[in-house]
Amino acid sequence: MLALRGFAPAPERDAADLVVLNTCTVTAAADDDVRKTARRVNRENPEASILITGCYAQRDPETLAHLPGVRWVVGNSHKTQIPDIVAEHAAESGALTPYHGNIHVGDIFAQHEFLSAPVEDSTGDRTRPNLKIQDGCNNRCSFCVIPFVRGRSRSAPLHEVIEQVRQLGAKYCEVVLSGINLGRWGRDNGISMRLHDLVRTLLAETPVERLRLSSVEPMDYSNELLELMASDSRIARHWHAPLQSGCDAVLKRMKRRYRVRHYEDRMRRAFALLPEAAFGADVMVGFPGETDAEFEETRAFIEGMPYTYLHVFTYSERPGTPASDLADSVPIPVRKQRNAVLRELAARKNLEFRQGLVGRRLSVVTLENEGFALSDNYVKVELAQPSPANEIHEVEIGGVTETGLAEKRPELSAISPFVVI
Ligand code: SF4
Repeated sequence: MLALRGFAPAPERDAADLVVLNTCTVTAAADDDVRKTARRVNRENPEASILITGCYAQRDPETLAHLPGVRWVVGNSHKTQIPDIVAEHAAESGALTPYHGNIHVGDIFAQHEFLSAPVEDSTGDRTRPNLKIQDGCNNRCSFCVIPFVRGRSRSAPLHEVIEQVRQLGAKYCEVVLSGINLGRWGRDNGISMRLHDLVRTLLAETPVERLRLSSVEPMDYSNELLELMASDSRIARHWHAPLQSGCDAVLKRMKRRYRVRHYEDRMRRAFALLPEAAFGADVMVGFPGETDAEFEETRAFIEGMPYTYLHVFTYSERPGTPASDLADSVPIPVRKQRNAVLRELAARKNLEFRQGLVGRRLSVVTLENEGFALSDNYVKVELAQPSPANEIHEVEIGGVTETGLAEKRPELSAISPFVVI
């Protein structure tokens, strides 16, 4: 959008007139990183104007406004106006003039009201564009700031999603549908459609060859959605549902809306229908009050379920969330040790999954890095021969690599003897 207004990328960061920092605020550590990055940008390039946007900008614009070199703070609520904000200034001054002052409140563009649901894609040169079709969340998990920075759940309108997938599907083999709480798509726009209705419509009305769903809350994996995933090979065999904890007492303290038996029911149903799918989860260790026994419940649950990968997070206090007021914080070394236990377990399960795929044929989409592709069940495959990006191939798996799989290479005997001198 900036390029359309005549701005061009700087040859290197230190030569930029404008630096845009898109921020996360999911943990206190993420906030620290943002402040450090802004200070570093200002130190290395004091002439640059810094624009900070994203969730941290939405949650606490005043703090960011006082960092040196920061000229604009633009919350998520005003993100789409960034080109106007910057272009208006450039038009006034003829160019982006160097900025040495402190920001004044008029330069903060953030409010705790939420405008219409944005529909974004991050196409660029990527081979697997991500299309956000839902934003915000109505839940109130006690550790999470997202509802405060992203607002209530909103769905992109059906016709816009169809149109965007139609356009992306004409250009790319795989499109990833995402959202803050993707499974809630359609619950707010009065058209009485659910995620499975949307997926079915997209398959019928667009040319997209592969659709992948990013994270979906466990209870939003309806039977209809799972059956659709199992019945149409254009939907990637990929199930990802945040677990957070495998212990009911911890889930209750987290204010998660399901219990372990509910999660298990959804996952077993999915596994019965899609036995070779990728199964992933986000898990949080060290939540306040998590005892050794509670952690062991989580570990044992994960051990017994057909996960193929995990994203393991260590709980960190997030000021302003209900969880940060809970007593019994878990000592940091214990949190780290639990994290290591689950990572090791995840690595073992992932290796077993990959070993089980040797000898199978998998459908893959080739990636920008020409020697690699991604299987529909979410494993990176080293190709026997480099292949242009953005093509769907079927490959036979010859073995496992350090972190993925390798396509079977042609047998030497299969090579024509006439080329061997
Ligand atoms: S469901 Fe996810 S986004 Fe919503 S409050 Fe819970 S953790 Fe945050």
